[in-house]
Amino acid sequence: MLGRYKELSGMTVRVVRILSLALAALLAGALLTVRSVPWTDRFIRLFGAVAEARTHTFNASDLDTTCDPCQDFFQFATGGWIKRHPIRPSYASWGQFNALQDKNQRVLRAILEDAAHARNAPPGSNEQKIGAFYASCMDSKQIEADGIKPIEPELGRISGIQNLEQLQDEVARLHSLGVRALFAFESSQDDKDSSQMIGSAHQGGLGLPDRDYYLDQDDRSKQIRDQYVQHVAKMFQLSGDASDVAGSQARGVLAVETQLAQVSKSRVELRDPLGNYHKMNLAELRTPEFSWEEYFRAIGFADISEVNVGQPEFFRALSRELTSVPIADWRTYLRWHLIRSSAPALSSQFVDEDFNFYGTVLTGAIENQPRWKRCVVSADSNLGEALGQKYVERALPPEAKIRAKALVDNLVAALRSDLQTLPWMGDQTRREALAKLAAITLKIGYPDQWRDYSAFQVDRGPYVENLQRGSGFEFRRELAQIGKPVDRTQWEMSPPTVNAYYDTNMNEIVFPAGILQPPFFDAKADDALNYGGIGAVIGHEMTHGFDDEGSQYDAQGNLRDWWTPEDRKNFEERAACVQRQFDGFVVAPGIHENGKLVLGESIADLGGVTIAHMAFQRALAERPAPAKIDGFTPEQRFFLSWARVWATIARPEFERQQTHTDPHPLPRFRTNAVVMNLPEFAKSFSCQAGNAMVRPAEQRCRIW
Ligand SMILES: [Zn+2]
Repeated sequence: MLGRYKELSGMTVRVVRILSLALAALLAGALLTVRSVPWTDRFIRLFGAVAEARTHTFNASDLDTTCDPCQDFFQFATGGWIKRHPIRPSYASWGQFNALQDKNQRVLRAILEDAAHARNAPPGSNEQKIGAFYASCMDSKQIEADGIKPIEPELGRISGIQNLEQLQDEVARLHSLGVRALFAFESSQDDKDSSQMIGSAHQGGLGLPDRDYYLDQDDRSKQIRDQYVQHVAKMFQLSGDASDVAGSQARGVLAVETQLAQVSKSRVELRDPLGNYHKMNLAELRTPEFSWEEYFRAIGFADISEVNVGQPEFFRALSRELTSVPIADWRTYLRWHLIRSSAPALSSQFVDEDFNFYGTVLTGAIENQPRWKRCVVSADSNLGEALGQKYVERALPPEAKIRAKALVDNLVAALRSDLQTLPWMGDQTRREALAKLAAITLKIGYPDQWRDYSAFQVDRGPYVENLQRGSGFEFRRELAQIGKPVDRTQWEMSPPTVNAYYDTNMNEIVFPAGILQPPFFDAKADDALNYGGIGAVIGHEMTHGFDDEGSQYDAQGNLRDWWTPEDRKNFEERAACVQRQFDGFVVAPGIHENGKLVLGESIADLGGVTIAHMAFQRALAERPAPAKIDGFTPEQRFFLSWARVWATIARPEFERQQTHTDPHPLPRFRTNAVVMNLPEFAKSFSCQAGNAMVRPAEQRCRIW
């Protein structure tokens, strides 16, 4: 489900923005928000304690020096690394994000194995939970012996559905087990009163990654639909259906989901906050076919009285479909979604067939991840803060947290001085923008207050049941917040996550311990590498408060227009420049980046590097510039570091999926698009007018 939280990379889930998508899409785990720290005004020197700059973590063989940096900077800066690091068979893409994640996962594995072997952990303790969870997931012998048995009781309930009321009850039940059938329901901050949590209902219920997969008429899309029907049929056969029955049932599933897709909004439409805000009370929610009161009762929250219905047209159409589609077809649809969401935790026939479609067909990955890795990812999704607590003891020394915090302060100071002098913005808007920047809060490393898992019972198997209880725990934890004031201590990512996010309603930036590691951040490296790496990431997240979506929210995280019409117009003209630039990038023959879909992330990249570069200049002014290192000036190393974190190569199937579904541009374009707009880059590598990495002055995009 699309939210208002933006990540650095990855699937956007719930109300925040992330840095990049490749990882989250692959690992598709549940998503999981430190006390607000007021910004200081001082400009703090980050690495003053390091006596001299060192070449730590920088490797000149990562470059492709046969390529001219002024023609293709991404290739120049990452070509050597990519050549030495081909995509692993079990991945859809491989890059610096994956390599760091892989490293973090090995730390988690050691923690989990220790916990799984320690049979003497106090019952109900976090250690007992992570150990038992991991052990149940690794117990392939029991999982094979059980086959489909662990979900048979639920399949039995579905086959007993005879009328609309029973159908509705089962949908509520499946939601509490983590099966997102028909639509999604969760809690979120009220966009117009960000101090309060309300219920939030969104379009959903599809088995393919996006509505376009059902509606597009090109050959490849048709082929994917055919393969999807075959996949659903195989899963039904594995569950005991005869092949002809399974085939016709699978076609029925596609027909039902296509109807849902036809009334779903596009990803671009979902990026419009006002267009997706429709707060309703119970009387307004009421439809003849679907009783929300009954749904709230069934999920255990009978007192919910107000809900933001993100896409009312979707819900109106869904109500009609509830009666126009025969009950038997709904039973098949629910059965499919239960099997689909349980498959990765069942016996190998189910795991393999699930991977065959969602891994190989959709992303091009050749083989599944080893079981231990899948179990680490699952433990992180389900018990992220219990596991994360152990992780940070091993991976984030307190001084790293202090240094990262100082770097953030320097970035804020740079953005503040930029906002104070920005030529295209009038004073009234400028005051609001500065107030918004001053109100941004920071979470870094790990939560000050760890999540309480006491209501989540974990034992040594069956694994599927641990997953169902985990989903139930998370569902109730989320919904219990509805109608209450916002709890500002929560994190939306677990500490080992290699990612970062900006939360629009909280107006906060968050950097988990997992990304405060080389090559993003290294306390032993020179300033250039750190400002170009984690500095640009920090700038990226801050800029989300001022991108095309974020700029519609004020300092308190409320959807409120604080712009004068003239400044808004100036901003939109500048944003349109970025949109045009991305529309021009060709992913594969016939496939372009979608400038409108990736606009927020592209503005954040451009703003992030610009602000990080300003902060780096201030750092250089504080003390003499170090000499060249590995033959590169500090300026050059700043840009090399920016490119390096995006060193990634992806399979064509996966790039296609990302272009359709990910608000983040592909790494090669995000790297080059930024430097093409910055005269500072051209100067540092002595690039000339007419070079591919130098846009003519009149085409250059600059917002912040
Ligand atoms: Zn982002």
